[in-house]
Amino acid sequence: MPDAAALRLRVCALYPDLMNIYADRGNLIVLERRCAWRGIGFTLSASGLGEPLDGDAHDLFYIGGGQDRDQRLCAEDLLETKRAGLHAAAARDAVVLGVCGGYQLLGHSYTLDSETIAGVGLLDVRTIREQGPRLIGNVAIAVPDGGAERVLAGFENHGGRTRLGPEQQPLGRVLKGFGNDGHSGREGARAGNTIGTYLHGPLLPKNAWFADWLIARALGIAEHELAPLDDEIEQRTHASALRAAGAPAA
Ligand code: GLN
Repeated sequence: MPDAAALRLRVCALYPDLMNIYADRGNLIVLERRCAWRGIGFTLSASGLGEPLDGDAHDLFYIGGGQDRDQRLCAEDLLETKRAGLHAAAARDAVVLGVCGGYQLLGHSYTLDSETIAGVGLLDVRTIREQGPRLIGNVAIAVPDGGAERVLAGFENHGGRTRLGPEQQPLGRVLKGFGNDGHSGREGARAGNTIGTYLHGPLLPKNAWFADWLIARALGIAEHELAPLDDEIEQRTHASALRAAGAPAA
């Protein structure tokens, strides 16, 4: 077991004031609490519009969901002031997690009518805001993990439909809900420790195992090296999110 006191998780929230719909702050609190309960140090920084990003200064970068208008504002800034830092971070295996609007911005582009907003291109995905209803509801996905599968439960609400490039791995397969586009059966995207997902509304409170998975990867340790916690309430929360999605209990 590594000495928890020697560990520190350094999290950077990108645009926390603009990209923060649906419990994004709660996701950050879960990371903070699960580190604190184990005696692991935790630092939360923020990088907003116009602020540079040092890709070496943080272990986990988080970008949450946003309305189309806020995404537009952030996308331009992301390219100008943060693209290089994020690519450097991903190249050294820092965790980059984008949720919903944040996921769309980690891809190549988000097209709305005649306008195309460029993303940072860390994931080989393209999103198009097509005619048709928003994809809204509870969702459950199966995520491959070392030969087995683990289930994530959450809530999605997006107008954009996301298509993966031919070599791009999804984050998981849809058990219930819409996922990337409502018909491919795929949800999210993953390249190494860069992850995009439409599951928000609170992703990490509903899936404590995934919070630990992210923490371990960001710290560069194995998940079993994290001290176990009493997760009875978290497990009940997970089960209730699965029930809401109509997925079988894990
Ligand atoms: N604005 C994006 C869409 O509707 C993302 C929405 C969100 O983050 N919930 O597709």
